[in-house]
Order: sequence, then structure tokens, then C-alpha cells
Amino acid sequence: MNDVKILVKVGGSKGIDYDHFLEDFSKFKKTILVHGGSSELNNISSKLDNPPNIIESDSGMSTRFTDRKTMDMFNMIYAGKMNKMIVEKLQKLSINAIGLSGLDGKLVMGKKNKPYRVIQKGKKKVIRGDMSGKITSINLALLKILIANEYTPVLCPPAISEENEAINVDGDKFASKIATKLQCKTLIILSNVQGLLRDINDNKSVVKFIKLKEIDYYIEKFAQGRMKKKLIGAKEAIDGGVKKVIISGALGKEPISNALNGKGTFIE
Ligand code: ADP
Repeated sequence: MNDVKILVKVGGSKGIDYDHFLEDFSKFKKTILVHGGSSELNNISSKLDNPPNIIESDSGMSTRFTDRKTMDMFNMIYAGKMNKMIVEKLQKLSINAIGLSGLDGKLVMGKKNKPYRVIQKGKKKVIRGDMSGKITSINLALLKILIANEYTPVLCPPAISEENEAINVDGDKFASKIATKLQCKTLIILSNVQGLLRDINDNKSVVKFIKLKEIDYYIEKFAQGRMKKKLIGAKEAIDGGVKKVIISGALGKEPISNALNGKGTFIE
């Protein structure tokens, strides 16, 4: 159907070494890059007097409450600063990168969340006005045009809702859905940790290998907050036909090559 073998997601947390990451990325042909921008968004939105409002449910899932003002800043940082920084660096590395968010050409479509309840500090609360949602479909035809014409897509949230509004969707799921739609062999999810850690304070406690049928145990037992979303994204990708997901770090030289050579958490 197409020959994209690897999709790489690079996070947006503090500590990620984009220069080394992109230098390594440029060595791989026919790849797609999905990126985040959370740390930079937190920085800039705080400076612009709109500090992040992270809603955490009792089950430990966290999500950024995204009102219109936050969405404008989200677009500025993800689709603007981060996306164009990456495209510029890849162009310097002779990769003909094209940067798009899920909004462009309805690349990633989703359903906006209805008002929802969370339990915070033991109290029920209804959350309204959140421009967040869940991904429902991917515009494969558009991706195929880009890939067939030798462009390297550099993609990021937001997605677009059925009402044609921008919606904030999880970056790991964004990557996982695209990898699944393209039936990539490998999805590599890089962030500021070397993989799933048994002990979050011990960088050497990386879980090396997880079989799909055991993943729920690892999600419950070890992953907190955003790591849960990575593992859930991994599970969905493998359920959807991706052969292997590697969760690893982008903290130094050759992070993709290292991941492919065994550094990180492998889920098969
Ligand atoms: P990114 O924005 O780079 O995609 P996230 O911040 O979403 O990365 O997710 C990585 C974070 O997940 C780590 O920095 C760490 O704080 C958190 N985390 C929670 N539980 C674990 C765990 N068991 N192992 C590793 N990281 C974990």
C-alpha cells in the first residue's frame, strides 16, 4: 500500500535533544515524524498569562483543559514554533520536510468531548468548554500524496472536529493512529525517559520487553500520568497491525538507531 516502515513520535518534554534526534532521523528514508510541544507550550502560555490547566482524574489520567485562548497558543507552539523549527532543521539536513497539523487538509479528524465528569480530591466536577477530543479517522489519501512525492511529513496535533473546529488530541495516540493507518512495521515513541521505568526515580530500571497480553499489567503497575497514554497508544497500534512499538529516549546521539538496536521498552 505504501512503504513507510517507521513512524517516529518525538515528545515535547524538557530534556529532549532535537539536534541529535533530527540528525539521526535524517538518515532514515520514507519515514514520518510526529512531534509534541508540551514543555514549550507551558513556558510560553505561562509568560502570556495563561498558565496550563492540567485536569487530573482520580484514575491518574491527565489532560490539558483547552479553551479557545489555550487552543490559539497550542497552534502557535505546536503547529508554529515547534513544527517550523523541526522543518527548518530537517531542510538544513537536506530532507524535504513538510509540516502540517491535523487540521490541514483534515489530516486527522476527531470527535470533540462532551462535557465530562472528573473526581478531583474526592469531589465530582463537570468540565465544560474543553476543546479536546478523540481521534476518529486519518486522511490516508493526503498522506499518500505526500509520501509518493518524496516529502517527509512532520505532523502534530491539533486535529479537526466534525464541526470543523480545532481539537486538542493526545500526541501519542495521534502517532499511533497514523502508524496503524499506514500499517507501519515499527512505531518509535521517544521522550525524555529511556522507556517504561519500574521505578520512576531510577533511569536504569527500564522494562525491556512487554508482550501485548501483559501490557495492562504494566500500565496498572508502573506507568503514571502521561506514560500511561504512551502504553495505551502502543497497545492500540499493535492491536491495529503495527508489528513493534519501541518506547525510548531522545536524550543524546542516535536515539532512533539506539532504539532499533534494543535501547528502550519493546512491545510486540
Ligand atoms: P513527551 O511529552 O516527551 O511525549 P511525556 O511527558 O508525555 O513525554 O511522558 C513522559 C513522562 O512520563 C516522563 O517524563 C515521566 O515523568 C512520566 N512517567 C510516568 N510514569 C513513568 C514510568 N513508569 N516510566 C517512565 N516515565 C514515566
